[in-house]
Amino acid sequence: MADFRTGTELVTSSECADHYDPCPVNEAEENQPHLQGVTGLRNLGNTCYMNAILQCLCSISPLVEYFLSGKYINALQKDCSEVATAFAYVMTDMWLGDSDCVSPEIFRSALGNLYPVFMKKTQQDAQEFLIYVLNELHEALKKYHQRKAYEKRSIPRCCRKMIANESSIITRLFEGQLSYSIVCLKCENCTYKNEVFTIISLPIPSEYECSLQDCLQCFFQQDTLTWNNQIHCSFCETKQEAAVRATISKVPKTIVFHLKRFDILGTMKRKLRTDIHYPLTNLDLTPYICPIFRKHPKYNLCAVVELSGWNPSISRGQGETDGRGSHSRWTGGGLTSRTTLVIWMVATTLLSPRTQ
Ligand SMILES: [Zn+2]
Repeated sequence: MADFRTGTELVTSSECADHYDPCPVNEAEENQPHLQGVTGLRNLGNTCYMNAILQCLCSISPLVEYFLSGKYINALQKDCSEVATAFAYVMTDMWLGDSDCVSPEIFRSALGNLYPVFMKKTQQDAQEFLIYVLNELHEALKKYHQRKAYEKRSIPRCCRKMIANESSIITRLFEGQLSYSIVCLKCENCTYKNEVFTIISLPIPSEYECSLQDCLQCFFQQDTLTWNNQIHCSFCETKQEAAVRATISKVPKTIVFHLKRFDILGTMKRKLRTDIHYPLTNLDLTPYICPIFRKHPKYNLCAVVELSGWNPSISRGQGETDGRGSHSRWTGGGLTSRTTLVIWMVATTLLSPRTQ
């Protein structure tokens, strides 16, 4: 896989202003024609984390298409439609409005009614905010299905997917599944545990420099559970040390990686300023996918959230399916000591048929 180490500047990157910003206009861009979907978001006072996440979601074309086409209206649950409706308004303003700068105030009020912490003028965690937004959109847009909890018995246990009886545009785009194999180190009895995810938090294995693949290898390598983490082995009927390994048993269309830049050392929290290299296209997750489900998906970079001090800012670009103006295109490759959240989207044209 290509790992770009030169030409690493991303074209679009905006720093977060902490203060209330009525409508920031970059002088260099003032005379440029307005490009669809390339829209600034007003800072409502330390809402950089919110704006960064909204910009990311505004770069995920199937999600934008779902809201702009009005498909969401049919799926709306009447009792919790406020956040989803406000989200649709923001997406519409950002993509179809005439203004270079949109206010996310209505969206913030809708979410703030449910979670007052987002009405405070203090910085919040961008990753946590993303989880809240995705959860609320899922709750508002989910549909129930009468289906069994697991796939057919003909599929090996380790690879059976949990089939949720609720689905939404959010689960269809973002939901994946990890399968953990847990082997007792005494009797070698193996059990499996499945876990649904929308974001994977990756450890950073170096203080100075590493690649995203290094972070992935670290996350997916076999781990040994000892001391307080021992498992109760049903075969030995006692607590035992165990070897655990995770694989991806359901590959999401859009995969979000959170890079764990904050490290706890005793009572101190420190930030890892590691430079992390990542490819802009053709991210290959095949080595981490359960073999029976290997489709060799390749992902293209869709959006990045960077942390400047405690504040997130946003860089974003376009994959092949984005249809965005050329000035927001990525150039070179990714390398940054500030990235905290990266979002990749499957390049559907690159999907190859199942090999097994
Ligand atoms: Zn055992």
